[in-house]
Amino acid sequence: MAWFTRQKPSLEGEPPKDGEKSVRTEGLWQKCEKCGQIIWRKTVEENLQTCPKCGHHFRISAAERLQQLFDEGTYITYDANLRSSDPLHFVDSKPYSQRLTDMRNATQLPDAVICASGLLNGRPVQICALELKFIGGSMGAVVGEKITRAIERCITEKSPLVVVSASGGARMQEGAISLMQLAKVSAALVRLQEAALPYISLLTDPTTGGVTASFAMLGDLNIAEPDALIGFAGPRVIEQTIRQKLPEGFQRSEFLLEHGFLDAVVKRTELKNYISNALNFLLS
Ligand SMILES: [Zn+2]
Repeated sequence: MAWFTRQKPSLEGEPPKDGEKSVRTEGLWQKCEKCGQIIWRKTVEENLQTCPKCGHHFRISAAERLQQLFDEGTYITYDANLRSSDPLHFVDSKPYSQRLTDMRNATQLPDAVICASGLLNGRPVQICALELKFIGGSMGAVVGEKITRAIERCITEKSPLVVVSASGGARMQEGAISLMQLAKVSAALVRLQEAALPYISLLTDPTTGGVTASFAMLGDLNIAEPDALIGFAGPRVIEQTIRQKLPEGFQRSEFLLEHGFLDAVVKRTELKNYISNALNFLLS
């Protein structure tokens, strides 16, 4: 993201003034994919990767999410050594083992979730964030096991759990084993509930399939970012099955809130304080 200007642009979130000579501004500006406006990248960063003009929430990585939620952006990660054993020796357009290696190299992550502990407004919490760029944030044995272990740490340390979902669902390359993770994580969440510890599920764009069908919808509070795609099956499959046209905004956060599937839709800039207040309430 290199940029060069003859006159130094202001870095206080202000775009350079007219008449300021700039040679190259590449990387300083970005186009909003929703409203199409050209926006000052620094302003987008200050707004936690949301558009200052239309409020569009850009997708962010699991690591960025954890940095935004944990105090001073610092946290401890767990179980980075867990690897899928490719139990089916699955091959689609390429062998699953190769796909995993490629994904690890591309994302620098061992699998599609980062489970971490740290402080959120001074309170110890465990946060698991799914990484959409790792095979669509899909849940295989490693994701299921890591989230289960995070829940067990919550029980041991008497701390609340936050899971940030961004996922296409179960990982088809692991077949039935990935489906078993739905039950495994759900059973662990029952133990968390028995220990009277709160769980907040944050659904982000997109959260679908087996993740929606399990832990993403099992929070004491299920909250979502604005305009996130949330569903089980995709809209085309549903339309073909029920032979009806789906209403406008179907499977978006606001629609789901209106129909009672979500407890709140919360802007990213307000998320940390919202979660903090909710935990105060749930633990009081
Ligand atoms: Zn915009």
